[in-house]
Order: sequence, then structure tokens, then C-alpha cells
Amino acid sequence: MGNDYYELLGVNRDASSGEIKKAYRKLAVKYHPDKNPGNKEAEEKFKEISHAYEILSDASKRRQYNQFGEGAFQYGGAGTGGFHDPSEIFREVFGGAFGDIFEGMFGFGGRQRRGPRRGRDLEYDLTLDFLEAVKGTTKEIKVRKYETCNACGGSGAKPGTGKGTCSRCGGSGKISQSGGFFSISRTCDACGGAGEIIKEPCPECSGIGRKEATKKISVKVPPGVDTGVRLRLSGEGEAGTHGGPSGDLYAAIFVREHNFFSRREYDLLSAVPVSFTQLVFGDEIETPGIDADISLSIPPGTQSGQVFRLKGKGIKRLDGRGRGDQLVKVRVEIPKNLNAHQKKLLREFEAGFGKKAAKGGRKFADRMKKMFE
Ligand SMILES: [Zn+2]
Ligand SMILES: [Zn+2]
Repeated sequence: MGNDYYELLGVNRDASSGEIKKAYRKLAVKYHPDKNPGNKEAEEKFKEISHAYEILSDASKRRQYNQFGEGAFQYGGAGTGGFHDPSEIFREVFGGAFGDIFEGMFGFGGRQRRGPRRGRDLEYDLTLDFLEAVKGTTKEIKVRKYETCNACGGSGAKPGTGKGTCSRCGGSGKISQSGGFFSISRTCDACGGAGEIIKEPCPECSGIGRKEATKKISVKVPPGVDTGVRLRLSGEGEAGTHGGPSGDLYAAIFVREHNFFSRREYDLLSAVPVSFTQLVFGDEIETPGIDADISLSIPPGTQSGQVFRLKGKGIKRLDGRGRGDQLVKVRVEIPKNLNAHQKKLLREFEAGFGKKAAKGGRKFADRMKKMFE
């Protein structure tokens, strides 16, 4: 879509949650499909403002949106990935008594309000150490959420009792009212359109079918994830009501920095200190890698700052297509506490370049300076 959510709702980027809700309410009433029958444009607009409201009304999703844009909500999810049914959001916002009046006004015929409803999607910020993200890990997290009630299995009926036909509507879920030449039918307010009602509500959950609880969830993090990736844990969101399916849980990944490693896409970057003589004469060194130390052969005459590419020693790609490379930069380390003898040898070494060195002294100093960059 590529729409700006703030623009869609007509609010500033620093709008308060109250302003966002107000803007949504105004637009939702205007573009509601029941008010614009057969108007595809209004329907599309209704969907867009619902998406925008869903993201901007949730502090954590809003933060992600500000940082990554719409793309933040398209990881790991297919198609509508994580968005709720617009009419569900509408009911949630307008809910309660006003919702009933509203339904009556617009004649929301046949929609279930007390029937099965899908649980909400949840989001969890999961912070990982650099190497955990690179190598993959399993994390135990604790999430406070609505869980299916164990006592009634989510049906909301007291164990041992069943559901009965709604006496108000006779099981049709609709109530017809005659008004002169025509009759209006509206959703039954006793059963919410389901046509059946619980005879005796479950005492554990008061007939809702779910209860709030803290659940431990183990999140399997694949190797290669980086900040901005959202992992989808299907069915680990909130339980639905009245037997509806559960929502999904999204783990939003944030990765801490590492002292030695950094990354560029799937390439692992590191720098290793070496001595002047190691670069002059060449050497075989060990440098930390993802899984173990890697040996690196430095040829004689290597310049400080040179980068060695170790093919396939980088980070595993999330799409399973192999690994990136490790790039190791060698950096000369200048000794600080030389003794008199060592200093003398170095002076002799420099004098060995003779007139050329004296003339090119400036150039040599510049090159030395460059080594520290
Ligand atoms: Zn229950
Ligand atoms: Zn009924």
C-alpha cells in the first residue's frame, strides 16, 4: 500500500493516543461499509484507516512503525500478517452499549458479537546478544495474556452443562421487527447472533471462555536474525472468546552491539591488531570467528588496514541460502614502552633508508598517520 498511517488518519506524528482514537472514530463512521453499500473505495479506505489505527494505537507497534515503516509488519507473516479484521477493530473501539445502539442504527445484520471471536495478536520485544542473534538460540519468555479457560475448554459453559437454543430469537440469531410496509431484522442482542446461549456460565471465566494468565513460551530464534525482524509464533497470542481461535504472538528482535564483531547484512566484520613486524615479515595468526578461532595467513608486506575476506565464514542467511563472509581488517599496533636498545635499533632501521628516507620523511610520517585511521 505504501500509505503513511499518520496521513491516513489526518493526525500529526506526535499525536496523542486520544487524538488518534478520535480521528479514527470520525473516519470509521464516515467510511463504514454499512453506511456505503457497494462502494469499493469506501471499503478500501475503511480497511486502511483500520490498519493505521491498529498500529498507531499500540505503543510498541507505533514505535516500530516510526522506525521501520510498514515493512516492520510484513516480516514472517503472509498477506494480512497480523492485522485484525477491520470490523472487529471497529467494534472494539465503539464497543459496549454504544456499539449496540450503533448496530441498531446501521443494521449490522447477522454479525456475531457474542459468537466465537479470534484472540488478539500480541507483540513481545525480544533483546538478544549479538552472538545469540548470529548463531540462533532458544529463549524462554513470559507473556501475560488471555488463555483458554481450562475448566470449560473455552466454550464458556459450566462443565457438565451444554448450550441451548436462544429463546429470544429462536435460534436464528436475528430478530425481526415489523414497521408498517417493511420489516427490519437486526442481530439478536441476547445471543449476539450465534443463535444459542450458555445455560449456565462457567464459574472460572464467567462464561467468556478465557482467563488472564502468565505463560512461559519458548521462542526458537533462527540463526542470522537482526534488529527489525519479527518472528511469528502462530497461535501464541491471546485466546479467542467463546471458542474462537487464538491470535498470534510476534517477537520483535532487537540486537545488542558486540565489542569485537559487527555485521553488514550477512557479512561478519572484525578487526585484529598485529605488530609492524608481523606485517613486514608475514605471519600465521588466529582470529575469533563465529564458531571457533580461524587461522589467517598474512603475507609479507601487508599494509595496515588491509581487509581479508574469509569466504563462507560469515552469518547464516535467514532464507537458508548459505552464509555470508567474514571480513577481517588487520590493524598495526604501535608499541608504547620501548627500551633504550629497541629505540636505538629502530633509529638505525630508519637511518638505513638513507637520503631517500630523509627526503621522503614527510611522506613516511603521513603513511604512519594513515595506519592509525
Ligand atoms: Zn471457563
Ligand atoms: Zn438469539
